[in-house]
Amino acid sequence: MTATKNAIVTGSSRGIGAAIAQKLAEQGYNVCLNCSRESGLDHLRQVAADLEERFGVRAVCCAANVAVPEEAQRLIDTCVEELGSVDVLVNNAGITKDGLAVRMKDEDFDAVISVNLKGTFNCCKAAAAKMMKQRFGRIVNMSSVVGVAGNAGQVNYAASKAGVIGITKSLAKELAARNITVNAVAPGFIATDMTDALSDAQKGAISERIAAKRFGEAEEVAALVGFLASEQAAYITGQVICIDGGMAL
Ligand code: NAP
Repeated sequence: MTATKNAIVTGSSRGIGAAIAQKLAEQGYNVCLNCSRESGLDHLRQVAADLEERFGVRAVCCAANVAVPEEAQRLIDTCVEELGSVDVLVNNAGITKDGLAVRMKDEDFDAVISVNLKGTFNCCKAAAAKMMKQRFGRIVNMSSVVGVAGNAGQVNYAASKAGVIGITKSLAKELAARNITVNAVAPGFIATDMTDALSDAQKGAISERIAAKRFGEAEEVAALVGFLASEQAAYITGQVICIDGGMAL
């Protein structure tokens, strides 16, 4: 890497996002960490202090709900004001509100679409404007194998993650000539708070359907994102890369 680059990771208070922030810090990027609410800032500042101490980079924090366009814009602006630019954007923030379609409440459908899909669009839109001017950028969007194959009980989540793939492929075409790549990562089942909600019996049944016979680790997803964010990945764009231990949904 020629000069220090600056990366935003949405939803980096825990789970996959925290592992991605750590991987990018390890690779020498300054990082802008994000959680959804002010009440999460104390914890986020501890994550930031740990990264600064271990990797000698700068780590700043911004509480912003990515589903709200003005808050997503403030997140991108904070990174530029405090670190100097936004070179990498990882759209990782995501939620689930599972239920069978016939029983799903409208508000549960809308909430998942707002955070996972609209939130990704909001951050891409605000960051792409900055990246186009500097003629460099790396955007990595967190999809899911559920967005590729569907999953019973997750119509809202599957729709949001399939939509993320649509954003990724379209934006890749809009931005490639400006030296900006846009890719999606589609994890299978990864051990985090999100999947901890599953019972042991459910986890066992799922592991049986995974060729690797285990859930993935957040650090394994982070390693893939770290590569896509790097300068070496300049000729990869518009791709959806599954990281699922050989799972067939
Ligand atoms: P997680 O442990 O539940 O963490 C979710 C993160 O997103 C938290 O940092 C949370 O921040 C943040 N967040 C939620 N809503 C937000 C909002 N409106 N604005 C900003 N931040 C928000 O989830 P995870 O398992 O690490 O998943 C991370 C991503 O990977 C998600 O997009 C998920 O869909 C995707 N994914 C996960 C799996 C899996 O098996 N775990 C598989 C495929 C894809 P707060 O602290 O503010 O809540």
